[in-house]
Amino acid sequence: MSVLSKILSFLTFLIIYSCSSQVNDPGDKDQRTANVSLLSVEDTLKYGGDTLPIDRSVQYIMGRFEPDTHPVFELIESKYADRAGMYLRSDTYEAFKKMHAAALQDSIELVIRSATRNFNYQKGIWERKWSGETTLEAGIKATSIENPTNRALEILRYSSMPGSSRHHWGTDIDLNAFSNAFFEQGQGLKLFNWLTTHASTYGFCRPYTEKNAERPDGYQEEKWHWSYWPVSSQLLAAAENVLKDSMITGFMGADQAAEIKVVEKYVQGVNMQCKLN
Ligand SMILES: [Zn+2]
Repeated sequence: MSVLSKILSFLTFLIIYSCSSQVNDPGDKDQRTANVSLLSVEDTLKYGGDTLPIDRSVQYIMGRFEPDTHPVFELIESKYADRAGMYLRSDTYEAFKKMHAAALQDSIELVIRSATRNFNYQKGIWERKWSGETTLEAGIKATSIENPTNRALEILRYSSMPGSSRHHWGTDIDLNAFSNAFFEQGQGLKLFNWLTTHASTYGFCRPYTEKNAERPDGYQEEKWHWSYWPVSSQLLAAAENVLKDSMITGFMGADQAAEIKVVEKYVQGVNMQCKLN
């Protein structure tokens, strides 16, 4: 057997093992793995050899699953986050831990403020804004905007409609502070500059860069939001094929999705560096 064949066999073993070993409840194993399509060995090598199987189904892309029982997700240790109970895909988490250690060497502490949010979690965020229970970033209540399209657009400056968030995928994290201003001076700027220089080494890209001619659509700039490109770029490509505005239903204001073209403008409206080359 050639060296290359051995490497390929070992990688295949690792992919299958790492998938099955994280299933906690054997009774549900068949059901859980049914939706998980194995990444090809060629893909695994192409994307760095450390990517777990990627489920490209609409259910996965829309966050219609529970991260705490999903085979490729794991709980984030409290030392990396500002609160307990958050989850990430294991491949993303491994890459984050390496980046976190490297940043610490440069006296920079990366803190996860938000990670995986499934459909129901995002529905809570969206509906609290839609109903005026939560005040929007602009300091107003959404209920002060009567036109439903404009109300949705105002919420969409910083929040996703349920079913269309990258936070569903387990690949995206919000770091340190939900404020662009924080990252523009002092320690925040130092942290941002470090990430801008080094995050790509660990596979992380920034989807919501400044809006300009290259990124005319989508959410406002978010200097805190980073994404594990080896997986998220593939899920974004899958979303382009399978996710439709008509599927975005089941929450207040969902009927605005088609008018606004949420999939085209918001899901796909990201920095080119976060897309598949
Ligand atoms: Zn985010």
